Amino acid sequence: MNIILFGPPGSGKGTQAQAITEQLGIPQIATGDMLRAAVRSGSELGQAVETVMASGQLVSDALIIALVNERLAASDCQQGCLLDGFPRTAAQAEALRDSGIPIDLVINFQVPDEEIVMRLSGRWIDSESGRTYHTRYSPPKVAGIDDVSGRPLTQRPDDTPDTVRARLAVYHETTNALVRCFADWEAASQAEVRPLRYVVVSATGSIDVVRSELSSLIEAHRPVAD
Ligand code: AMP
Repeated sequence: MNIILFGPPGSGKGTQAQAITEQLGIPQIATGDMLRAAVRSGSELGQAVETVMASGQLVSDALIIALVNERLAASDCQQGCLLDGFPRTAAQAEALRDSGIPIDLVINFQVPDEEIVMRLSGRWIDSESGRTYHTRYSPPKVAGIDDVSGRPLTQRPDDTPDTVRARLAVYHETTNALVRCFADWEAASQAEVRPLRYVVVSATGSIDVVRSELSSLIEAHRPVAD
């Protein structure tokens, strides 16, 4: 099954992605994580995208499309995959559509902007393990320190309130065209064996409530051959 998680930064896509990949046994392809790994490694790609990412803007379509196409060609994606953070623009969605990979479900996570700013600006991470904390909702036992390793926590450079607002502005600028693209794709695919289904989900509930809603949605839209 191929699924796209789509929604503003901080809407909980990454958190829910973990449960979905376990439910279906498919890999998560999170373009933000792939780019951050490139930045950490100091590769040519990482150097090319570091400044753009830190400012909250999008990296170029050409670069991200090439990165995702290469990843989708890997053998672990043959049984399906979960795309998290891609496509983010209409051009990226068109490129994915042109690639011929059947997308079964597109889930649009909706969360109001002010909630997003609060969620992201309180987020702290142990960069080695990926463990995530929130100063208000899930604080570490000792402020600023990872519970398990004792390492100091870090904040993503693009999680400061000003950059979060810039990321939200970019999100709203690109969203209408992207939603139209999914609507066209959904309408055009209805006669196909694996039609695309586009669903909007309110993601303001607790992690468990959203998880159970997504789990039912996925079961209802699993392709027949799966
Ligand atoms: P994320 O972790 O998904 O919030 O992504 C962090 C940053 O990586 C974004 O603000 C962009 O700079 C970049 N990025 C991730 N995915 C994409 C994409 N599909 N298109 C363009 N830029 C992206």
